[in-house]
Amino acid sequence: MDINLSTGEIAFRNEVRAFLQDKLPPQVKSGAAGSPSVFVEPEIGQTWNAVLHKQGWLGYQWPVEYGGTGWSAVQRYIFEKECALAGAPNLTVLGLKLVAPAIWTFGTEEQKRRYLPRILTGDDYWCQGFSEPGSGSDLASLQCRALRVSDAGGDRYILNGSKIWTTHAHHANRMFCLVRTDATARKQAGISFLLVDMNQPGITVRPILTMAGDHEVNQVFLEDVVVPVEDRLGDEGAGWTIAKFLLENERGGSCHAPKLSFDLDRLEQAAQSEPDGRGGTMAGDHQWRRKLARARLSAQALEMIELKIVSEIAKGRPPGPQTSLTKLLASNLRQEIDLLAVDLYGAGGLQLDLERPLYGADAPAPVHSRDAQLAAPRYLNSRAWTIFGGTNEVQAQIIAKSVLGL
Ligand SMILES: Cc1cc2nc3c(=O)[nH]c(=O)nc-3n(C[C@H](O)[C@H](O)[C@H](O)COP(=O)(O)OP(=O)(O)OC[C@H]3O[C@@H](n4cnc5c(N)ncnc54)[C@H](O)[C@@H]3O)c2cc1C
Repeated sequence: MDINLSTGEIAFRNEVRAFLQDKLPPQVKSGAAGSPSVFVEPEIGQTWNAVLHKQGWLGYQWPVEYGGTGWSAVQRYIFEKECALAGAPNLTVLGLKLVAPAIWTFGTEEQKRRYLPRILTGDDYWCQGFSEPGSGSDLASLQCRALRVSDAGGDRYILNGSKIWTTHAHHANRMFCLVRTDATARKQAGISFLLVDMNQPGITVRPILTMAGDHEVNQVFLEDVVVPVEDRLGDEGAGWTIAKFLLENERGGSCHAPKLSFDLDRLEQAAQSEPDGRGGTMAGDHQWRRKLARARLSAQALEMIELKIVSEIAKGRPPGPQTSLTKLLASNLRQEIDLLAVDLYGAGGLQLDLERPLYGADAPAPVHSRDAQLAAPRYLNSRAWTIFGGTNEVQAQIIAKSVLGL
């Protein structure tokens, strides 16, 4: 595997760096730095999306024909890495990186024409309705029923059931949703993939507040919700195939290591002035530094694996089950780094404000410092990393079966 950048790729990296230097708005950067949750609030995320869209870079993973950049796998990695190193917010993945590739891969021409541009312009904000109470890891057991009705009112599905842990459902106007269209078929075969309009009667979004105090996730109740048949993606019963495609995109092909390294840099810098309680600073605390060094090595090893996946994709091969490995490693490391921050700030890192946001003029005052104020909510919020997108145990099983052949 050759991980050296070509002259063209170095020029591209410099172009991205110059753009970020010039165009990343300070309030977006400070909003990203002050958000303990994985997803930044739409006011931050959508502002950044609009800047990228203006530049023509928002669809940085999209084919040119749908308004994307058509960049190579290496260019995409460079872009994500430079964004992370510049402190840009995580992009709102649900529309951009999850449902969009499913639409251009499995959708009709009409669905592509209708939905893809609206993701880039920000007119549609998507959420993901897969998990249900009792159906998370065993997703194929999902129960949300979609009954097909064809009469003078049109050819449509009527949905009844509930989705849970639905990230940003309270902001979304569209939900991509797995439903059971055939209760008699083998459980995977009876599932279909629907594109649901959230702005209709019968949909109730109930907030779930996390222990960190963030409102990121919800339970969504569906009562006689109507979805026209033309808003089904793929064939009836093909939902499981589309979901597997989408989950592979969710778990990997992405760039976690640079963001993790960026956070380690910030901690290392903060340690220079953080008192150790013995007259020195935490930069001289050997035990803490040892943990920092171990996390750094893990981040570097993770970046090597991510680059290996990029090089596979560049050769036209699918990322495959290695994405489970990067999801597993990145999740563990995320939690390790957030624990390092709590250790670094000591008592100052135990402040737990439940008000949001923790950035901007209305943020509650920090007891110690802004960074210390974020340590506890970040630590608590990042417990979710080893759960969402498939738990660690589930990833380990995929690796055991598909990679190790056990
Ligand atoms: C912050 C957050 C955001 C989320 N966002 C979304 C979203 O936007 N849309 C969406 O659809 N879902 C979302 N989820 C749901 C997420 O995908 C599920 O929580 C996850 O798949 C686990 O399912 P579960 O919660 O039902 O736990 P369960 O499946 O009940 O698992 C409970 C425990 O049992 C273990 N376990 C389960 N099965 C096995 C097995 N076969 N072998 C070994 N151990 C096993 C698990 O690892 C876990 O430790 C989100 C979750 C979180 C925490």
